Amino acid sequence: MRSVAPELSIVIPVYNEEDVLPLLVQRLRPVADSLKAPYEVLTVDDGSTDLTAAVLERLRREWPQLRVVRLRANAGHQAAISAGLATARGRYVVTLDADLQDPPEVIPEMLHVAQQGNADVVYGVRTDRSTDSAFKRLSARAFYRLIRVLSGTHAEVDAGDYRLMSRATVDAINALPEHNRVLRFVVPALGFPSASVSYRREERAAGRSKYPLAAMLRLSLDSVTGFSTAPLRFATWLGLLGGVAALGLLAYALVEMFLGRTLPGWTSTVVAVTGVGAVQLLCVGILGEYVGRMYAHLQGRPSYFVAYDSSGAPLTAEGELAPAESRQA
Ligand code: UDP
Ligand code: MG
Repeated sequence: MRSVAPELSIVIPVYNEEDVLPLLVQRLRPVADSLKAPYEVLTVDDGSTDLTAAVLERLRREWPQLRVVRLRANAGHQAAISAGLATARGRYVVTLDADLQDPPEVIPEMLHVAQQGNADVVYGVRTDRSTDSAFKRLSARAFYRLIRVLSGTHAEVDAGDYRLMSRATVDAINALPEHNRVLRFVVPALGFPSASVSYRREERAAGRSKYPLAAMLRLSLDSVTGFSTAPLRFATWLGLLGGVAALGLLAYALVEMFLGRTLPGWTSTVVAVTGVGAVQLLCVGILGEYVGRMYAHLQGRPSYFVAYDSSGAPLTAEGELAPAESRQA
């Protein structure tokens, strides 16, 4: 049933994008057809609850290269991309958001750069983010700087999840056991030869952002704890500092006691209780981040379940896709 591996897989995570999909196909199809190479467009329906599934089925009837993989439930942007990478069959794989913020017209250039320059990864780098909110730009900048300091990996500051990867890169990512991975930092950390192509980030074509602040915060926490134990050390230092402060307070309290001025001890009590409490809470919270990661890892639970694949690839009992042929070879 399966045909030869296409040259390019275009992986698109889709979550409640019924409005955007027709526009996406309108712009993506001419670009893909112009490649003059076999390709597949792999949409990963991340448990959409609107008409996305129906729209995809309709579009697929007119576009044979369009493939639909549906996840059982909403697994999140990064997990949806991971599902796409695990099921893509192309020699090269490009990941692209559905909302047309990343112009598909850049794909041929990315592919060309990869093929000619022997780069394993070609990052799409946003030169102009004026269409993103000031808050998003500022927070992104601070966040990338933090990750760079913490992890020592050099993720391009304005590279998101628009990137092209070689089969070797995709296989390497698929083999990583890590859960809740943030691909935009995991990929540079692999250290494969890379190049970049710049583009202008556009306005979302239709619909609303599926990335609320809470999701952004979760992504940030996963990025930091996924790359560095520095926050753990930070907790240790903070704990030490808190300990020293507590000792100082103790000495102060004893002196006050011997001087017989214990009654107005209200201030020091409050300071001690709140200060130590705050430090402890913070440390427990940071520890919890890591324990949570280990917990998720120990459970070994897949971060997504595939419910359906329009290409007819066999599903295992769990509903996960059987490993792609290319990876068994
Ligand atoms: N998305 C997804 N699952 C989610 C949230 C988002 O697959 O739980 C997809 C979404 O359909 C889009 C891409 O991820 O194709 C990026 O989301 P969005 O454009 O809403 O994020 P933003 O650009 O606002 O950061
Ligand atoms: Mg977007």
